[in-house]
Amino acid sequence: MYLKAHKYQHYLYSNIISFVARHALDVISKEARTVSESVGLDKAICRCVLRVTHGLPCAHEIVVHLLGNNPITLDEVHPNWKKLNMTSLRPH
Ligand SMILES: [Zn+2]
Repeated sequence: MYLKAHKYQHYLYSNIISFVARHALDVISKEARTVSESVGLDKAICRCVLRVTHGLPCAHEIVVHLLGNNPITLDEVHPNWKKLNMTSLRPH
């Protein structure tokens, strides 16, 4: 199954793409598109709406990742967005 995965091959998503709901990736990518325009690192402009309402990285957090060439980590995604833990399905 390839389900438009190419859309998220940006390194920003490399740590989380297999572990969070597709909708979360859609929301983050939408936020990421607003990043370059005006937000920068300014929390006052960002207002961190996505962080507060969705538990997902907001624009100014995404900027930090882009500046450092670091992918978003799973710790930054609210547990509600994570897929079932596949390790619990493995036979012992
Ligand atoms: Zn923010």
